Amino acid sequence: MTLDRSTLFIDGAWAAPTGDDTIEVVSPHTEEVVARVPEGTPADIDAAVDAARRAFDSGPWLRMSPEERIEVVQSFSNLYAGKLGEMAELITTEMGSPTSFSNLAQSPAPWMMIESFINIAKAFPWEETRPGALGSDVIVRREPVGVVAAIPPWNVPQFTTISKIAPALLAGCTVVLKPAPETPLDSYLMAELLQEAGVPAGVVNIVAAGREVGEHLVAHPGVDKVAFTGSTAAGRKIASVCGEQLKRVSLELGGKSAAIVLDDADLATTMDGLRFTALMNSGQACVAQTRILASRAKYDEVVDALAQTVASMPVGDPGDPATEIGPMVARRQQERVEKYIALGQEEGARVVVGGNGMPDGLDRGWYVRPTVFADVDNSMRIAREEIFGPVLSVIAYDDVDDAVRIANDSDYGLAGTVWTADQEAGLDVARRVRAGTYGVNTYTMDFAAPFGGYKSSGIGREFGPEGLAQYTEYKAIYPTAPAM
Ligand code: NAD
Repeated sequence: MTLDRSTLFIDGAWAAPTGDDTIEVVSPHTEEVVARVPEGTPADIDAAVDAARRAFDSGPWLRMSPEERIEVVQSFSNLYAGKLGEMAELITTEMGSPTSFSNLAQSPAPWMMIESFINIAKAFPWEETRPGALGSDVIVRREPVGVVAAIPPWNVPQFTTISKIAPALLAGCTVVLKPAPETPLDSYLMAELLQEAGVPAGVVNIVAAGREVGEHLVAHPGVDKVAFTGSTAAGRKIASVCGEQLKRVSLELGGKSAAIVLDDADLATTMDGLRFTALMNSGQACVAQTRILASRAKYDEVVDALAQTVASMPVGDPGDPATEIGPMVARRQQERVEKYIALGQEEGARVVVGGNGMPDGLDRGWYVRPTVFADVDNSMRIAREEIFGPVLSVIAYDDVDDAVRIANDSDYGLAGTVWTADQEAGLDVARRVRAGTYGVNTYTMDFAAPFGGYKSSGIGREFGPEGLAQYTEYKAIYPTAPAM
C-alpha cells in the first residue's frame, strides 16, 4: 500500500501544488519514511482561501437551510463510520499512537463528535423571535462567521480537526484546514469522504504545511476566524495577530492537569483510572493528568501503586494491540521528554520508575521510558511545564484545601480529576478547581458539553451548543418600528 499523495485538496478538486517541496511522513516506530505529501506554500494557501472565500460569498453552502446542511453532514458521518478502522490505522502509522488508543479515540471519538454536533444543530436556535424591550418583537439570528482557518496539532489529528470542521460546516462556514506536517494523511482520507458526501466545491480546502505557512494562513485577510489547537506559545502568537486584525479566534492550548487522590480513594480503582487518564496516547495528550497529588499520610502508598502500575504498562510497537505506551511522535519530542527527565533529577526529584534511556528490548524508534517522579515540589519546572510525554510527578499535600491550592497553582487550567469514595466530597473539589473540564473518579469528554481551558489553556470552547456558537455571529433584526 502506498500512502504517497501528490496533490492538495482545493476548490473541491485534487490540485497540483505550486511548490516542489514534500513533507516526509516518518514512522515513529521504524524511523522509516512511510509517505510523502506536497508541502503547501503561501501561494497554495492563497488559492485555498480564495476558493473558501468564493464558496462563502457566492456559493450554495451559506444559502442552504440548516436542515439541508445537516443532511450533507449526516452523509459525511455515515461514510466516516465506514472508515473508522482505516482512519485509526493511518493515524497510528503517521504518529505512533498505540492502536488500542487509535481504535478508541483517534477515529471513533471524532465520528461520535460529528453525530453529536448534528443533534445539537437540529435543536440550535438559528433564528428566534423574542419580545423586545421597546414593545415590538426582535428577530435574533445566528449567522456563519465566514471563512475559518482550522489549524490542528499532530497528537489527536482527527479529533482536533473534526471539532472544527463539523461545527463550521453545520453553521454554514467554509474552511481552510492546515494539518500539522507530522500528520497529513488522515486529512486526505477525510477529504475523500467530504467529497463523496456532496460537500460543495470550496467549502473545505486542505493544505498541509508547517508553522510559517500556518502564519501566512492566520494573517490572510480573506480569513474571518481562526480555530487553533496546539501549544500555548503558538496560541499566544496567533491570538496577537488575530487581535491586531480583530479576527475571531478560538484557542485550545496546553495543560498540566492535577489528579487529586483523596485519602478514602480505592487505590486499585484509582490506578486503573490514572493508567488511562495520565498516560493516554503515550502521554501526548493535552488533558493528561500529569501531576498526581497525594496526601502526606498516603504519599508512599500512592507512589508505590503508581510505580507498579506504570512499570506494568507494555511499551513498544504501536501496531501491537497489547501496547499501552508507543513512541513519541518525532525525535524532537523524544529529546524534549528526555531533557525534562534529566531536569527533574537536577531539580531534586526522585525517579521511582523509568529514567532516561531506551525502554528494554527496543533499539530503534523514538521511545522514552515511562517515568514517575516522587518528591516533586509544585514549583519545579517538571511540575509547571507541559512535558507532553509519559512522565508523571507525585506531589504531596497537607489537606484538601492544600490539594486544591496546588491544583490551582498552575499557569494552565484545562482539566482535572479527583479520586475518592465520597462523591459529594469529589464534587466539592470539582467546583473549586479552576479548569474547563473535571472528572470525579473518571476523566471523559462528553461532546454534548463545552470543552476548553481556563488561563493559559485557551480561549473559547469546543463541543456542545457552546462549541457550535463559536462558528456563528449574532444578528438582531428589528422587523417593525417600536410600539412606543
Ligand atoms: P504546535 O503549537 O507546535 O502546532 C500546532 C499546529 O499549529 C500545527 O499544525 C503547526 O504547524 C501550527 N502552528 C504552529 N505555530 C503556528 C503559528 N505561529 N501560526 C500558525 N500555525 C502554527 O503544537 P503541537 O506540538 O503540534 O501540539 C502539541 C500541543 O497541542 C500541546 O501543547 C498540547 O497540549 C496541545 N493540544 C491541546 C489540545 C486542547 O484541546 N486544548 C488538544 C490537543 C493538543
